[in-house]
Amino acid sequence: MSRAALMNNYGTPPVTFVRGDGTELWDDRGRRYLDFLCGLAVTGLGHAHPAVTEAVAAQAGTLIHTSNLFANEPTAEVVETLDRLIRSGPGGDTEPGRILFQNSGAEAVEAALKLARKHQGRGRHGVVSAYGSFHGRTLAALAATGQPTKHEPFQPMPEGFRHVPFDDFGALEAALDPTVGAVVLESVQGEGGVVPAGDEYLQAVRRVCDERGILLVMDEIQTGLARTGRWFGYQHAGVQPDVVTMAKALGNGVPVGAVWARPDVAAAFVPGDHGSTFAGQPLALAAVRAVLAQMQAMDAPAVADRLGADLRDRLLAIDGVDSVRGRGLLLAAELSEEAGAGRSAKDVASACLDRGLVVNGVTPTALRLAPPFVVSTEQLAEGCAILAGVLERGWGATRSP
Ligand SMILES: *Cc1c(COP(=O)(O)O)cnc(C)c1O
Repeated sequence: MSRAALMNNYGTPPVTFVRGDGTELWDDRGRRYLDFLCGLAVTGLGHAHPAVTEAVAAQAGTLIHTSNLFANEPTAEVVETLDRLIRSGPGGDTEPGRILFQNSGAEAVEAALKLARKHQGRGRHGVVSAYGSFHGRTLAALAATGQPTKHEPFQPMPEGFRHVPFDDFGALEAALDPTVGAVVLESVQGEGGVVPAGDEYLQAVRRVCDERGILLVMDEIQTGLARTGRWFGYQHAGVQPDVVTMAKALGNGVPVGAVWARPDVAAAFVPGDHGSTFAGQPLALAAVRAVLAQMQAMDAPAVADRLGADLRDRLLAIDGVDSVRGRGLLLAAELSEEAGAGRSAKDVASACLDRGLVVNGVTPTALRLAPPFVVSTEQLAEGCAILAGVLERGWGATRSP
């Protein structure tokens, strides 16, 4: 058994995918699926996107890795483009920021937390984040994650983290004592159930952080790079953060994360403060360069906005879907109690998988849908028909191989 060597960290996977093309996946039995999950909001340009494939293949045949002791060729353009997109909303018309590459989301959050500590100084190392948030699995990112059950097996957590109810400005303001140096928020809580922050909430948080010299760190790892219908989710609220973390969609599946900070904050990091052997390597950066070029050429935020509205309408028309929340192409469908009939969204997702649709249960009662920007309206209709069939025709019936 080839799986014997893997730790039992994810349970038993139901399917082995062997190939992908755009919105479609094929498993090792030759069955076709529609991918409305994108590997957790990662493959925004779809599977095997020709421009990304070509960029990665060409870079792999040229130079994969040299370490951060040396510069590499794709980086300058990526940094320029990312900085421009991060500051392309209201309040972003400022001096260019600076970027540090990492290999994953949790590492980007970890780097942001260390940067905030270094910039704010000892005694102002406190971090306030929201219940229901998800910021990653390393110890500090886990401490920022507002899910006490995920902390429990790993106590004690690093010191200085506290959590407040999401989208409740009074609660957040009350938690801001002089030890707090940073507030960390998602513009839409992704893992927490696809729950958007109110625009006025983020505006009020921005204001109070300005008044008290607290850094506003927006974790855009799931929402960033066009997924919500803007380049970054905070741009819906018209606020500009001090620090931004990115990862998931950045490499269309090639592992890469990044943290951006406004220049005076970024200046807190000097050589020796933080590092990573792999981070920012030519292979990953070549993928990012291709992803950013494609996303800009197709105007990915506009696409996510338009297709997201279409998907929302289709979902709301399904018997068994009570409501739909989220932004752009990051949506959650809340299932009605009748449709659920005692079954969890996880069971619904698993029945969808049996019928060729990849989604996941993001809460016990809600499905997450995050199709790629290259999904066609026919594929949106096909995916929604599969879900409608699952919610309508009862359970246990699987398609024939
Ligand atoms: C997925 C996610 C992370 C963690 O990213 P990894 O690459 O899995 O470490 C952090 N924050 C948010 C908002 C995420 O959605």
